[in-house]
Order: sequence, then C-alpha cells, then structure tokens
Amino acid sequence: MGSYANDRSCQHDDRRSLEKTKEPVLPLKLMPLHAANGWLHDMRLSSPTTAPLMNNGSSSGSSDPIYRAWTKKYPSALNAFDQIVAHGKGKKIALFLDYDGTLSPIVDEPDNAVMSDQMREVVRNAALHLPTAIISGRSRDKVFDFVKLTELCYAGSHGMDILGPVGERDSVPEHRSPISSNKKQGKEAKIFQAAPEFLPMIDEVFRLLIDKTDAIDGVKVENNKFCVSVHYRNVVEKEWQLVAQCTNDVLKLYPRLRLTHGRKVLEVRPAIDWNKGKAVEFLLDSLGLGSCRNVLPIYIGDDRTDEDAFKVLRDDKRGLGILVSSVPKESHALYSLMDPSEVMDFLKRLVMSKEEEASRNK
Ligand SMILES: [Mg+2]
Repeated sequence: MGSYANDRSCQHDDRRSLEKTKEPVLPLKLMPLHAANGWLHDMRLSSPTTAPLMNNGSSSGSSDPIYRAWTKKYPSALNAFDQIVAHGKGKKIALFLDYDGTLSPIVDEPDNAVMSDQMREVVRNAALHLPTAIISGRSRDKVFDFVKLTELCYAGSHGMDILGPVGERDSVPEHRSPISSNKKQGKEAKIFQAAPEFLPMIDEVFRLLIDKTDAIDGVKVENNKFCVSVHYRNVVEKEWQLVAQCTNDVLKLYPRLRLTHGRKVLEVRPAIDWNKGKAVEFLLDSLGLGSCRNVLPIYIGDDRTDEDAFKVLRDDKRGLGILVSSVPKESHALYSLMDPSEVMDFLKRLVMSKEEEASRNK
C-alpha cells in the first residue's frame, strides 16, 4: 500500500469549514501508514463485495464446501429450526432485526434499499405475534420510511435513537429515561436518545465530510442523525485509501467521535458506551422483559455493528444471534442465514410455530 502522498488530495480549505466550530482545529497531517493500512484492512474485511465465485461460476453459499463447513460452526437457522423452537418452547420470543442486508438487499444506492411488500407483511405479522424491534445504523426516521409499520419499535443510529413501546418504564434506570413522546408514527410512544448533545456536532461533521469527499467519484455521505455514514460501495477500490484519508482528516478534529466499519461504509459516531447490544438491553427493559427468564431474545443481523448485540445475548446465555451472510466469517452469533429471503422464511416459520404452540395450549 502506498503512502498518503497521493497525487489527489482531499479537497477544500478545512480552516474555512471549521471556523465556526468549537472543536480545536488541529493541523491536518498525513495519516500514518500503519493506521492507513489498518483502516484499509478493516474496509476490505468488512466489505465482502459478493459471494466469491466458484470454479463453475456459481456463487458461494450452500453449494460451496467452504461455506458448508462454516455452517457446522454457525448452523443454518432454517436447518436448526426445531432446535431453536425447542429452546424457545414456553418462552416469549422477542425479535430484534437489523434492516439493511437483513430485511432488504444491499444495493448500490443506499436510498434505494427498499424492503419488498412480501417482507413487510412478514415483519408485520411477526410484530403482531411477538415483541419486535428494528435496530439500524440509519436514522430512525429513515428506517421508518422504509419499513412503514407502526406495530413495532424502532432504534436508529445504531440504537442511539429509540422509539420505544408505551409503558413498562419503571425498570429503566434514571439516566436512560425517555426524553419525549411521539405520536407521529401511530400510537404515542417514548423516545430515548443516548447522546442528544452530539446532534450539532454530527451535523457539522456531515457537512465537512460532504465537502471533503466531494471530488471522490461514487462516495455518498449520509446523515443518520447520531452518526455520519460514508458509503464507498460505488467507489473504485484504489480510491478507498482517499476515502479513509478524508474521513480520518475530519475524525481527528473531533476527539469525542469515533469510527466504526460497516459493509462498505465508514461510520463516524459519538465515542460513548452505547451500541446495538445496549439498545437490545434497553428495549428488553422497556418492554418489561429485562428480568424475565422465560424470554428468548433473537437478534438477526448482517453487519459488524450487529456483533455487539450478538455478544450481549451470547454472554447472557439468554438469547441467540443469527448472522445473515453468504460468505463465511467469524461472529458472536450462534446461527446463520444466507440472505434476506432466508430471513423471511425463518420469520414465517417462527410465527407459525408460535401460533401452533398457542393453539395447543388453549
Ligand atoms: Mg445491516
């Protein structure tokens, strides 16, 4: 990997853009090579383009011996369905779902990541039978615009912005108390924001990143309210280094922000002790299920940021994570599904099995 003494550099005068900020303006330096290589390594690691092609031209997945071997460690949640249902027998299942890559396919243009009507109906039906929440890196409003269902809870910005259920708030610690109520998305519900003081800073970083990455073809900067996403899905790989450099140039001006890697996206977010795992714990508390032992939380997601939730459920030994991936990767999840269509099949079967269990118990 070459140094950052690139013949193209990040555009625009940073001093001009930062004049009005309260953050200290530090001199922009080239990113150290080891740090650059670390970022690029992480960008490649978290960005499997598509399933690798087999010798016969077919894509990886169930026909790939490497994938099949991987599913011995992370069994398909469809093949292991009876085992999962047995684990949840007599328990209330709480469902936590990531959005992009889990309920909708990953697409080149993030604004086009719509879910199918069929998937919407399946999720709606699941939410009518089971407490259900969607936890996404997108802003809460944006993910609601995609999903358009009022029957479930929404956590946007990696769980930093939660529209929770009504009531059952007594068990929620004081510092996690809701800040306001919201009637926009149906019945009245409480909003919890983990770090509202970061809003102006995130807006500022959003504008700066748009400015700095303006000259990079294919880059898309998205304001997700409590985090800024820099998508490089449509950027040629030789320019990823430049995307990393521009993002790093901005990030180092804001010591209270940090970076995480998603699937072909860099995400700048508050450096606070909050993530999708904490959001799951918060939502379980809010739903009045936090201290119940007869609850089985199931979290389905495809992203590295979903690992925090998988880990919480695994460490607590009270729930299970299902990783959505068509390529082998290490995970804290216990099970796997290949793609959103398998997620849909799993959700249908899960609801059906709970309906059958309920009718048997009548
Ligand atoms: Mg995802």
